[in-house]
Amino acid sequence: MRKKEKEAVEKLSKITTIALKRGFFWPTAEIYGGKAGLLSYGHLGKAMKNKFENLWKEYFIKSNENYYEIGSSVILPEKVFIASGHLEHFNDPLVECKTCHFRFRADQFLESRLKIKVEELTPEEMSDLIRKNKLKCPKCGSWHLGQVKWFNMMFPIQLGAVGIKDMAYLTPETAQASYLAFKREFEATRKKLPLGIAIIGKAFRNELSPRQLITRMKEFHQAELQIFFDPAEINRLDKEEWKQISKYKLIMLPQKEKKVKEITCEDTNKKLKLPKFYVKNLALAQKFYIEQLKIPKSKFRLRELSEKERAFYNKIHWDVELELETLGEFREVGGVHYRTDHDLGGHEKYSKENLKIFYNNKKFIPHVLEISLGIDRDIWALMDIFFKEEKERTVFSFPITVSPIDIAIFPLVSREAMPEKAKEVYNILKKDLLCFYDETGAIGRRYRRQDEIGTPYCITIDSQTLKDDTVTIRERDSMKQKRVKIGTLLVELKNIM
Ligand code: ATP
Repeated sequence: MRKKEKEAVEKLSKITTIALKRGFFWPTAEIYGGKAGLLSYGHLGKAMKNKFENLWKEYFIKSNENYYEIGSSVILPEKVFIASGHLEHFNDPLVECKTCHFRFRADQFLESRLKIKVEELTPEEMSDLIRKNKLKCPKCGSWHLGQVKWFNMMFPIQLGAVGIKDMAYLTPETAQASYLAFKREFEATRKKLPLGIAIIGKAFRNELSPRQLITRMKEFHQAELQIFFDPAEINRLDKEEWKQISKYKLIMLPQKEKKVKEITCEDTNKKLKLPKFYVKNLALAQKFYIEQLKIPKSKFRLRELSEKERAFYNKIHWDVELELETLGEFREVGGVHYRTDHDLGGHEKYSKENLKIFYNNKKFIPHVLEISLGIDRDIWALMDIFFKEEKERTVFSFPITVSPIDIAIFPLVSREAMPEKAKEVYNILKKDLLCFYDETGAIGRRYRRQDEIGTPYCITIDSQTLKDDTVTIRERDSMKQKRVKIGTLLVELKNIM
Protein backbone atom coordinates (compact mmCIF):
# COMPACT_ATOMS: atom_id res chain seq x y z
CA MET A 1 0.00 0.00 0.00
CA ARG A 2 1.32 3.45 -0.93
CA LYS A 3 2.13 5.96 1.84
CA LYS A 4 -0.82 8.24 1.01
CA GLU A 5 -3.27 5.34 0.97
CA LYS A 6 -1.91 4.06 4.26
CA GLU A 7 -2.31 7.48 5.87
CA ALA A 8 -5.87 7.71 4.54
CA VAL A 9 -6.75 4.32 6.04
CA GLU A 10 -5.20 5.31 9.37
CA LYS A 11 -7.03 8.63 9.50
CA LEU A 12 -10.30 6.95 8.58
CA SER A 13 -9.84 4.41 11.30
CA LYS A 14 -9.00 7.08 13.93
CA ILE A 15 -12.06 9.20 13.08
CA THR A 16 -14.29 6.12 13.05
CA THR A 17 -13.01 5.05 16.45
CA ILE A 18 -13.87 8.47 17.91
CA ALA A 19 -17.25 8.41 16.16
CA LEU A 20 -18.13 5.03 17.68
CA LYS A 21 -16.68 5.68 21.13
CA ARG A 22 -17.96 9.19 21.67
CA GLY A 23 -21.43 8.95 20.10
CA PHE A 24 -21.28 10.41 16.59
CA PHE A 25 -22.55 7.36 14.69
CA TRP A 26 -22.46 3.56 14.51
CA PRO A 27 -23.87 0.71 12.41
CA THR A 28 -27.63 0.30 12.77
CA ALA A 29 -28.59 -2.88 14.68
CA GLU A 30 -24.95 -3.25 15.68
CA ILE A 31 -25.76 -5.91 18.28
CA TYR A 32 -27.03 -8.11 15.42
CA GLY A 33 -23.92 -7.52 13.37
CA GLY A 34 -25.21 -4.39 11.59
CA LYS A 35 -26.06 -4.05 7.89
CA ALA A 36 -23.85 -2.46 5.27
CA GLY A 37 -25.23 0.93 4.24
CA LEU A 38 -27.35 1.51 7.36
CA LEU A 39 -26.02 3.81 10.08
CA SER A 40 -27.49 5.52 13.14
CA TYR A 41 -26.52 8.80 14.75
CA GLY A 42 -25.55 8.99 18.41
CA HIS A 43 -26.18 12.09 20.52
CA LEU A 44 -23.19 14.04 19.14
CA GLY A 45 -23.81 13.12 15.51
CA LYS A 46 -27.49 14.03 15.82
CA ALA A 47 -26.63 17.37 17.47
CA MET A 48 -24.20 18.10 14.65
CA LYS A 49 -26.73 17.11 12.02
CA ASN A 50 -29.35 19.36 13.65
CA LYS A 51 -26.92 22.27 13.54
CA PHE A 52 -26.02 21.58 9.91
CA GLU A 53 -29.69 21.50 8.96
CA ASN A 54 -30.49 24.71 10.84
CA LEU A 55 -27.57 26.47 9.22
CA TRP A 56 -28.68 25.23 5.80
CA LYS A 57 -32.22 26.50 6.40
CA GLU A 58 -31.08 29.88 7.72
CA TYR A 59 -28.70 30.31 4.82
CA PHE A 60 -30.48 28.95 1.76
CA ILE A 61 -34.15 29.43 2.57
CA LYS A 62 -33.67 32.94 3.91
CA SER A 63 -31.64 33.92 0.84
CA ASN A 64 -34.91 34.87 -0.87
CA GLU A 65 -38.24 36.00 0.57
CA ASN A 66 -40.09 33.60 -1.75
CA TYR A 67 -38.31 30.39 -0.64
CA TYR A 68 -40.13 27.99 1.70
CA GLU A 69 -39.60 24.66 3.42
CA ILE A 70 -42.17 21.87 3.06
CA GLY A 71 -42.48 18.26 4.26
CA SER A 72 -43.50 15.11 2.41
CA SER A 73 -44.00 11.38 2.73
CA VAL A 74 -41.00 9.32 1.65
CA ILE A 75 -43.18 6.66 -0.01
CA LEU A 76 -44.30 7.85 -3.42
CA PRO A 77 -46.52 6.08 -5.97
CA GLU A 78 -44.93 4.26 -8.91
CA LYS A 79 -46.32 6.75 -11.43
CA VAL A 80 -44.13 9.49 -9.94
CA PHE A 81 -41.03 7.53 -10.91
CA ILE A 82 -42.32 6.58 -14.34
CA ALA A 83 -42.78 10.30 -14.97
CA SER A 84 -39.42 11.30 -13.46
CA GLY A 85 -37.55 8.61 -15.44
CA HIS A 86 -36.17 6.92 -12.31
CA LEU A 87 -37.78 3.56 -13.11
CA GLU A 88 -36.03 3.47 -16.45
CA HIS A 89 -32.77 5.28 -15.77
CA PHE A 90 -31.84 5.16 -12.06
CA ASN A 91 -29.45 2.25 -12.44
CA ASP A 92 -26.00 1.09 -11.38
CA PRO A 93 -23.95 -1.43 -13.41
CA LEU A 94 -24.07 -4.84 -11.72
CA VAL A 95 -21.99 -7.95 -12.35
CA GLU A 96 -22.58 -11.39 -10.87
CA CYS A 97 -20.05 -14.14 -10.27
CA LYS A 98 -21.44 -17.27 -11.92
CA THR A 99 -19.58 -19.51 -9.47
CA CYS A 100 -20.40 -18.04 -6.02
CA HIS A 101 -23.25 -15.69 -7.11
CA PHE A 102 -21.66 -12.68 -5.41
CA ARG A 103 -23.08 -9.47 -6.98
CA PHE A 104 -21.11 -6.24 -7.05
CA ARG A 105 -20.77 -2.85 -8.80
CA ALA A 106 -18.88 -3.28 -12.04
CA ASP A 107 -17.77 0.38 -12.26
CA GLN A 108 -16.25 0.46 -8.77
CA PHE A 109 -14.63 -2.94 -9.36
CA LEU A 110 -13.01 -1.78 -12.62
CA GLU A 111 -11.92 1.54 -11.17
CA SER A 112 -10.23 -0.08 -8.18
CA ARG A 113 -8.58 -2.88 -10.22
CA LEU A 114 -7.53 -0.94 -13.32
CA LYS A 115 -7.17 2.55 -11.78
CA ILE A 116 -9.16 4.15 -14.59
CA LYS A 117 -12.40 6.16 -14.73
CA VAL A 118 -15.27 4.16 -16.24
CA GLU A 119 -18.23 6.45 -15.47
CA GLU A 120 -18.89 7.03 -19.16
CA LEU A 121 -18.80 3.39 -20.30
CA THR A 122 -21.78 1.25 -21.32
CA PRO A 123 -22.40 -2.17 -19.65
CA GLU A 124 -21.08 -3.88 -22.81
CA GLU A 125 -17.86 -1.85 -22.67
CA MET A 126 -17.44 -2.73 -18.98
CA SER A 127 -17.99 -6.44 -19.72
CA ASP A 128 -15.29 -6.23 -22.41
CA LEU A 129 -12.85 -4.62 -19.98
CA ILE A 130 -13.47 -7.37 -17.41
CA ARG A 131 -12.86 -10.05 -20.05
CA LYS A 132 -9.81 -8.44 -21.67
CA ASN A 133 -8.11 -7.86 -18.32
CA LYS A 134 -9.01 -11.37 -17.11
CA LEU A 135 -10.40 -10.00 -13.85
CA LYS A 136 -11.53 -12.49 -11.20
CA CYS A 137 -14.39 -12.47 -8.67
CA PRO A 138 -13.28 -10.42 -5.62
CA LYS A 139 -14.90 -13.00 -3.34
CA CYS A 140 -14.12 -16.50 -4.63
CA GLY A 141 -11.47 -15.77 -7.27
CA SER A 142 -13.41 -17.41 -10.13
CA TRP A 143 -12.88 -16.20 -13.74
CA HIS A 144 -16.50 -16.89 -14.48
CA LEU A 145 -18.07 -13.43 -14.25
CA GLY A 146 -21.38 -12.69 -15.99
CA GLN A 147 -22.32 -9.82 -18.32
CA VAL A 148 -22.58 -6.37 -16.72
CA LYS A 149 -26.26 -5.36 -16.44
CA TRP A 150 -28.14 -2.33 -15.17
CA PHE A 151 -29.62 -2.68 -11.68
CA ASN A 152 -32.40 -0.30 -10.54
CA MET A 153 -31.49 1.32 -7.23
CA MET A 154 -34.95 2.12 -5.90
CA PHE A 155 -36.61 0.20 -3.06
CA PRO A 156 -40.04 -1.05 -4.16
CA ILE A 157 -42.89 -1.20 -1.66
CA GLN A 158 -46.24 -2.87 -2.10
CA LEU A 159 -48.99 -0.75 -0.61
CA GLY A 160 -52.40 -2.14 0.26
CA ALA A 161 -53.51 -5.64 1.20
CA VAL A 162 -51.54 -8.74 0.18
CA GLY A 163 -52.23 -9.78 -3.38
CA ILE A 164 -53.41 -6.38 -4.56
CA LYS A 165 -50.82 -4.66 -6.73
CA ASP A 166 -50.38 -1.09 -5.61
CA MET A 167 -46.73 -0.34 -6.22
CA ALA A 168 -44.81 2.50 -4.65
CA TYR A 169 -41.14 3.27 -3.99
CA LEU A 170 -39.10 4.82 -1.23
CA THR A 171 -38.01 8.11 -2.71
CA PRO A 172 -34.40 8.12 -4.00
CA GLU A 173 -34.21 11.95 -3.73
CA THR A 174 -36.24 14.57 -1.88
CA ALA A 175 -36.63 16.60 -5.08
CA GLN A 176 -39.63 14.71 -6.52
CA ALA A 177 -41.83 15.72 -3.58
CA SER A 178 -41.11 19.40 -4.30
CA TYR A 179 -42.21 18.97 -7.92
CA LEU A 180 -45.40 17.26 -6.75
CA ALA A 181 -46.04 20.20 -4.40
CA PHE A 182 -45.31 22.92 -6.95
CA LYS A 183 -48.85 23.60 -8.12
CA ARG A 184 -50.24 23.94 -4.60
CA GLU A 185 -47.31 25.99 -3.32
CA PHE A 186 -47.40 28.36 -6.29
CA GLU A 187 -51.07 29.05 -5.62
CA ALA A 188 -50.58 29.30 -1.85
CA THR A 189 -47.61 31.68 -2.00
CA ARG A 190 -49.15 34.41 -4.19
CA LYS A 191 -48.05 33.11 -7.59
CA LYS A 192 -44.56 34.61 -7.82
CA LEU A 193 -41.35 33.41 -9.45
CA PRO A 194 -38.67 32.54 -8.63
CA LEU A 195 -40.27 30.23 -6.09
CA GLY A 196 -38.03 28.07 -3.91
CA ILE A 197 -39.32 24.82 -2.40
CA ALA A 198 -36.95 23.20 0.05
CA ILE A 199 -37.03 19.78 1.67
CA ILE A 200 -34.72 18.33 4.27
CA GLY A 201 -35.44 14.65 4.42
CA LYS A 202 -34.52 11.04 3.84
CA ALA A 203 -33.59 9.44 0.54
CA PHE A 204 -33.21 5.72 -0.14
CA ARG A 205 -30.98 4.02 -2.70
CA ASN A 206 -30.19 0.35 -2.92
CA GLU A 207 -26.45 1.01 -3.28
CA LEU A 208 -24.84 -2.25 -4.40
CA SER A 209 -21.56 -1.64 -2.67
CA PRO A 210 -22.30 0.67 0.23
CA ARG A 211 -18.94 1.62 1.66
CA GLN A 212 -16.94 4.41 3.12
CA LEU A 213 -19.15 4.84 6.17
CA ILE A 214 -21.62 7.68 5.97
CA THR A 215 -20.61 8.81 2.50
CA ARG A 216 -22.50 6.06 0.66
CA MET A 217 -25.52 4.64 2.44
CA LYS A 218 -28.77 2.95 1.52
CA GLU A 219 -30.77 5.38 3.67
CA PHE A 220 -29.41 8.93 3.92
CA HIS A 221 -30.39 12.56 4.32
CA GLN A 222 -30.55 15.30 1.74
CA ALA A 223 -31.09 19.04 1.92
CA GLU A 224 -32.44 20.11 -1.44
CA LEU A 225 -33.74 23.41 -2.74
CA GLN A 226 -35.72 23.46 -5.98
CA ILE A 227 -35.95 26.93 -7.51
CA PHE A 228 -38.74 27.34 -10.07
CA PHE A 229 -38.18 30.21 -12.50
CA ASP A 230 -39.08 31.70 -15.87
CA PRO A 231 -36.53 30.37 -18.41
CA ALA A 232 -36.66 33.69 -20.27
CA GLU A 233 -35.03 35.25 -17.19
CA ILE A 234 -32.15 32.83 -16.82
CA ASN A 235 -29.63 35.43 -17.92
CA ARG A 236 -31.33 38.42 -16.33
CA LEU A 237 -30.54 39.44 -12.80
CA ASP A 238 -31.36 42.54 -10.84
CA LYS A 239 -28.51 45.07 -11.55
CA GLU A 240 -27.72 45.63 -7.88
CA GLU A 241 -27.72 41.90 -7.15
CA TRP A 242 -25.31 41.22 -10.04
CA LYS A 243 -23.05 44.10 -8.97
CA GLN A 244 -22.74 42.55 -5.53
CA ILE A 245 -21.42 39.23 -6.84
CA SER A 246 -19.87 40.02 -10.22
CA LYS A 247 -16.33 40.35 -8.81
CA TYR A 248 -16.70 37.36 -6.46
CA LYS A 249 -14.35 34.57 -7.50
CA LEU A 250 -15.64 31.03 -8.01
CA ILE A 251 -13.24 28.11 -7.54
CA MET A 252 -13.85 26.12 -10.69
CA LEU A 253 -12.69 23.07 -12.57
CA PRO A 254 -14.26 23.34 -16.04
CA GLN A 255 -14.37 20.22 -18.24
CA LYS A 256 -11.67 21.49 -20.57
CA GLU A 257 -9.22 22.44 -17.83
CA LYS A 258 -6.85 20.23 -15.89
CA LYS A 259 -6.35 22.63 -13.00
CA VAL A 260 -8.70 24.51 -10.70
CA LYS A 261 -9.08 28.21 -11.54
CA GLU A 262 -10.50 31.13 -9.62
CA ILE A 263 -12.88 32.89 -12.00
CA THR A 264 -15.05 35.93 -11.23
CA CYS A 265 -18.80 35.55 -11.59
CA GLU A 266 -18.60 38.11 -14.39
CA ASP A 267 -16.12 35.98 -16.38
CA THR A 268 -18.02 32.81 -15.57
CA ASN A 269 -20.97 34.42 -17.28
CA LYS A 270 -19.05 35.95 -20.19
CA LYS A 271 -16.30 33.42 -20.90
CA LEU A 272 -17.76 30.15 -19.63
CA LYS A 273 -21.17 31.20 -20.93
CA LEU A 274 -23.04 30.19 -17.79
CA PRO A 275 -26.26 32.16 -17.34
CA LYS A 276 -26.34 34.79 -14.58
CA PHE A 277 -29.08 33.07 -12.56
CA TYR A 278 -27.06 29.85 -12.54
CA VAL A 279 -23.83 31.72 -11.64
CA LYS A 280 -25.62 33.43 -8.75
CA ASN A 281 -26.60 30.04 -7.35
CA LEU A 282 -23.12 28.59 -7.81
CA ALA A 283 -21.83 31.54 -5.77
CA LEU A 284 -24.53 30.91 -3.15
CA ALA A 285 -23.43 27.27 -2.82
CA GLN A 286 -19.71 28.12 -2.70
CA LYS A 287 -20.23 30.79 -0.02
CA PHE A 288 -22.10 28.27 2.12
CA TYR A 289 -19.01 26.06 2.21
CA ILE A 290 -16.34 28.74 2.42
CA GLU A 291 -18.02 31.30 4.66
CA GLN A 292 -20.51 29.31 6.75
CA LEU A 293 -18.74 25.95 7.10
CA LYS A 294 -15.24 27.53 6.98
CA ILE A 295 -13.90 24.97 4.49
CA PRO A 296 -10.37 25.99 3.38
CA LYS A 297 -10.46 27.21 -0.24
CA SER A 298 -7.76 24.70 -1.19
CA LYS A 299 -10.13 21.83 -0.32
CA PHE A 300 -13.09 23.16 -2.27
CA ARG A 301 -13.95 23.13 -5.96
CA LEU A 302 -16.90 23.34 -8.32
CA ARG A 303 -16.43 20.68 -11.00
CA GLU A 304 -18.19 20.69 -14.33
CA LEU A 305 -19.55 17.28 -15.34
CA SER A 306 -19.20 16.01 -18.87
CA GLU A 307 -22.30 15.31 -20.94
CA LYS A 308 -21.94 11.57 -20.37
CA GLU A 309 -21.42 11.92 -16.61
CA ARG A 310 -24.48 14.05 -15.94
CA ALA A 311 -28.12 12.96 -15.93
CA PHE A 312 -29.65 13.38 -19.39
CA TYR A 313 -32.09 16.03 -18.14
CA ASN A 314 -29.43 18.26 -16.54
CA LYS A 315 -28.59 20.94 -19.07
CA ILE A 316 -25.92 22.43 -16.79
CA HIS A 317 -24.36 20.46 -13.95
CA TRP A 318 -21.50 21.43 -11.65
CA ASP A 319 -20.76 19.37 -8.57
CA VAL A 320 -19.58 20.76 -5.26
CA GLU A 321 -16.51 18.71 -4.34
CA LEU A 322 -14.36 18.67 -1.21
CA GLU A 323 -10.94 17.11 -0.86
CA LEU A 324 -11.15 14.35 1.72
CA GLU A 325 -7.92 12.75 2.89
CA THR A 326 -9.79 9.73 4.26
CA LEU A 327 -11.11 8.92 0.78
CA GLY A 328 -7.91 9.97 -0.94
CA GLU A 329 -9.54 12.35 -3.41
CA PHE A 330 -12.00 15.16 -4.08
CA ARG A 331 -15.50 13.81 -3.43
CA GLU A 332 -18.90 15.14 -4.48
CA VAL A 333 -20.92 16.45 -1.55
CA GLY A 334 -23.53 18.37 -3.54
CA GLY A 335 -24.50 19.72 -6.92
CA VAL A 336 -26.07 22.67 -8.68
CA HIS A 337 -28.29 21.33 -11.47
CA TYR A 338 -30.24 23.15 -14.16
CA ARG A 339 -32.99 20.54 -14.74
CA THR A 340 -34.99 22.58 -17.30
CA ASP A 341 -38.71 21.67 -17.44
CA HIS A 342 -37.94 17.94 -17.37
CA ASP A 343 -39.57 17.32 -14.00
CA LEU A 344 -42.73 19.42 -14.17
CA GLY A 345 -43.09 18.51 -17.87
CA GLY A 346 -42.86 14.80 -17.07
CA HIS A 347 -45.35 15.04 -14.23
CA GLU A 348 -47.76 17.03 -16.38
CA LYS A 349 -47.59 14.38 -19.08
CA TYR A 350 -48.15 11.37 -16.80
CA SER A 351 -50.58 12.90 -14.28
CA LYS A 352 -52.59 14.74 -16.98
CA GLU A 353 -52.71 17.65 -14.53
CA ASN A 354 -52.05 21.05 -16.07
CA LEU A 355 -48.83 22.27 -14.42
CA LYS A 356 -48.44 25.35 -16.62
CA ILE A 357 -48.69 28.73 -14.98
CA PHE A 358 -49.64 32.16 -16.22
CA TYR A 359 -46.85 34.57 -15.39
CA ASN A 360 -45.05 37.45 -17.14
CA ASN A 361 -48.01 37.58 -19.55
CA LYS A 362 -47.49 34.08 -20.87
CA LYS A 363 -48.40 30.47 -20.16
CA PHE A 364 -45.50 28.07 -19.58
CA ILE A 365 -43.98 25.31 -17.47
CA PRO A 366 -41.43 26.83 -15.08
CA HIS A 367 -37.85 25.57 -15.26
CA VAL A 368 -35.99 24.23 -12.23
CA LEU A 369 -32.59 24.99 -10.79
CA GLU A 370 -31.71 22.59 -7.99
CA ILE A 371 -29.14 23.00 -5.20
CA SER A 372 -28.74 19.54 -3.74
CA LEU A 373 -26.57 18.65 -0.72
CA GLY A 374 -26.05 15.32 1.04
CA ILE A 375 -26.13 15.94 4.79
CA ASP A 376 -24.36 12.76 5.94
CA ARG A 377 -21.61 13.09 3.36
CA ASP A 378 -21.12 16.71 4.43
CA ILE A 379 -20.87 15.64 8.07
CA TRP A 380 -18.18 13.13 7.19
CA ALA A 381 -16.40 15.82 5.16
CA LEU A 382 -16.40 18.14 8.18
CA MET A 383 -14.99 15.36 10.36
CA ASP A 384 -12.28 14.67 7.78
CA ILE A 385 -11.31 18.30 7.14
CA PHE A 386 -11.32 19.52 10.75
CA PHE A 387 -9.59 16.50 12.30
CA LYS A 388 -6.19 17.36 13.78
CA GLU A 389 -3.64 15.41 15.73
CA GLU A 390 -1.30 17.35 17.98
CA LYS A 391 1.40 16.18 20.33
CA GLU A 392 -0.84 15.70 23.33
CA ARG A 393 -4.34 15.82 21.95
CA THR A 394 -6.71 15.03 19.10
CA VAL A 395 -8.97 17.87 18.01
CA PHE A 396 -11.95 18.44 15.75
CA SER A 397 -11.57 22.17 15.08
CA PHE A 398 -15.18 22.48 13.87
CA PRO A 399 -16.61 25.98 13.48
CA ILE A 400 -19.16 26.61 16.22
CA THR A 401 -21.90 26.61 13.55
CA VAL A 402 -21.62 22.81 13.38
CA SER A 403 -19.84 21.66 16.57
CA PRO A 404 -22.11 19.22 18.44
CA ILE A 405 -21.64 21.15 21.71
CA ASP A 406 -21.09 24.91 22.12
CA ILE A 407 -19.77 25.08 25.66
CA ALA A 408 -18.55 22.63 28.30
CA ILE A 409 -18.79 23.71 31.95
CA PHE A 410 -16.51 22.26 34.62
CA PRO A 411 -15.98 22.80 38.31
CA LEU A 412 -12.20 22.53 38.80
CA VAL A 413 -12.77 19.98 41.58
CA SER A 414 -15.97 18.34 42.77
CA ARG A 415 -15.91 19.90 46.25
CA GLU A 416 -15.81 23.29 48.04
CA ALA A 417 -19.14 24.42 46.53
CA MET A 418 -17.61 24.49 43.04
CA PRO A 419 -20.10 22.00 41.53
CA GLU A 420 -23.03 24.08 42.84
CA LYS A 421 -21.56 27.25 41.33
CA ALA A 422 -20.81 25.44 38.06
CA LYS A 423 -24.41 24.22 37.84
CA GLU A 424 -25.58 27.81 38.34
CA VAL A 425 -23.46 28.84 35.36
CA TYR A 426 -24.76 25.85 33.38
CA ASN A 427 -28.36 26.91 34.10
CA ILE A 428 -27.66 30.47 32.94
CA LEU A 429 -25.98 29.42 29.69
CA LYS A 430 -28.17 26.45 28.69
CA LYS A 431 -31.02 28.76 27.68
CA ASP A 432 -28.96 30.19 24.81
CA LEU A 433 -26.26 27.63 24.12
CA LEU A 434 -25.76 23.87 23.75
CA CYS A 435 -24.04 23.11 27.04
CA PHE A 436 -22.39 20.07 28.58
CA TYR A 437 -21.59 19.65 32.27
CA ASP A 438 -18.86 17.40 33.67
CA GLU A 439 -17.29 17.27 37.13
CA THR A 440 -15.35 14.01 37.12
CA GLY A 441 -11.66 13.47 36.39
CA ALA A 442 -8.62 15.71 36.11
CA ILE A 443 -9.33 19.06 34.45
CA GLY A 444 -6.69 18.46 31.74
CA ARG A 445 -8.41 15.20 30.76
CA ARG A 446 -11.78 16.90 30.64
CA TYR A 447 -10.38 19.54 28.28
CA ARG A 448 -8.93 16.80 26.04
CA ARG A 449 -12.25 14.95 25.94
CA GLN A 450 -13.95 18.13 24.70
CA ASP A 451 -11.17 18.83 22.15
CA GLU A 452 -11.70 15.34 20.80
CA ILE A 453 -15.37 16.05 20.01
CA GLY A 454 -14.79 19.61 18.83
CA THR A 455 -16.28 21.74 21.66
CA PRO A 456 -15.02 25.28 20.96
CA TYR A 457 -15.09 26.65 24.55
CA CYS A 458 -14.75 25.31 28.08
CA ILE A 459 -15.73 27.31 31.16
CA THR A 460 -14.02 26.45 34.44
CA ILE A 461 -15.23 27.35 37.91
CA ASP A 462 -12.34 27.41 40.43
CA SER A 463 -11.58 28.69 43.93
CA GLN A 464 -11.25 32.25 42.66
CA THR A 465 -14.81 32.03 41.30
CA LEU A 466 -16.02 31.53 44.86
CA LYS A 467 -14.25 34.76 45.88
CA ASP A 468 -14.96 37.15 43.00
CA ASP A 469 -17.57 35.50 40.71
CA THR A 470 -15.17 35.18 37.78
CA VAL A 471 -14.64 32.09 35.59
CA THR A 472 -12.13 31.12 32.92
CA ILE A 473 -13.03 30.65 29.27
CA ARG A 474 -10.66 28.25 27.47
CA GLU A 475 -10.57 28.44 23.70
CA ARG A 476 -10.15 25.06 21.97
CA ASP A 477 -7.75 25.87 19.14
CA SER A 478 -5.32 28.24 20.90
CA MET A 479 -5.91 26.66 24.36
CA LYS A 480 -5.65 30.23 25.72
CA GLN A 481 -7.63 31.14 28.81
CA LYS A 482 -9.36 34.36 29.74
CA ARG A 483 -10.98 35.31 33.06
CA VAL A 484 -14.38 37.03 32.94
CA LYS A 485 -17.20 37.95 35.34
CA ILE A 486 -20.15 35.53 35.41
CA GLY A 487 -22.46 38.53 34.94
CA THR A 488 -20.94 39.31 31.54
CA LEU A 489 -20.15 35.71 30.50
CA LEU A 490 -22.94 35.30 27.98
CA VAL A 491 -22.16 38.63 26.30
CA GLU A 492 -18.42 37.79 26.26
CA LEU A 493 -19.13 34.39 24.70
CA LYS A 494 -21.44 35.80 22.06
CA ASN A 495 -18.74 38.34 21.15
CA ILE A 496 -16.06 35.73 20.56
CA MET A 497 -18.21 33.05 18.92
P1 ATP B 1 -22.86 9.71 -6.27
O1 ATP B 1 -22.41 9.98 -7.70
O2 ATP B 1 -21.79 9.93 -5.27
O3 ATP B 1 -23.59 8.43 -6.12
P2 ATP B 1 -25.11 11.31 -6.96
O4 ATP B 1 -24.55 12.18 -8.05
O5 ATP B 1 -25.93 10.16 -7.35
O6 ATP B 1 -23.94 10.85 -5.95
P3 ATP B 1 -27.18 13.15 -6.22
O7 ATP B 1 -28.27 12.33 -6.76
O8 ATP B 1 -26.80 14.39 -6.96
O9 ATP B 1 -25.90 12.25 -5.95
O10 ATP B 1 -27.54 13.49 -4.71
C1 ATP B 1 -27.18 14.71 -4.06
C2 ATP B 1 -26.26 14.45 -2.89
O11 ATP B 1 -26.77 13.42 -2.04
C3 ATP B 1 -24.86 13.96 -3.26
O12 ATP B 1 -24.04 15.04 -3.64
C4 ATP B 1 -24.39 13.30 -1.99
O13 ATP B 1 -23.88 14.27 -1.08
C5 ATP B 1 -25.68 12.73 -1.43
N1 ATP B 1 -25.75 11.28 -1.68
C6 ATP B 1 -26.10 10.68 -2.84
N2 ATP B 1 -26.09 9.33 -2.69
C7 ATP B 1 -25.74 9.10 -1.39
C8 ATP B 1 -25.57 7.90 -0.61
N3 ATP B 1 -25.80 6.70 -1.13
N4 ATP B 1 -25.21 8.03 0.69
C9 ATP B 1 -25.00 9.25 1.24
N5 ATP B 1 -25.16 10.41 0.55
C10 ATP B 1 -25.52 10.35 -0.75
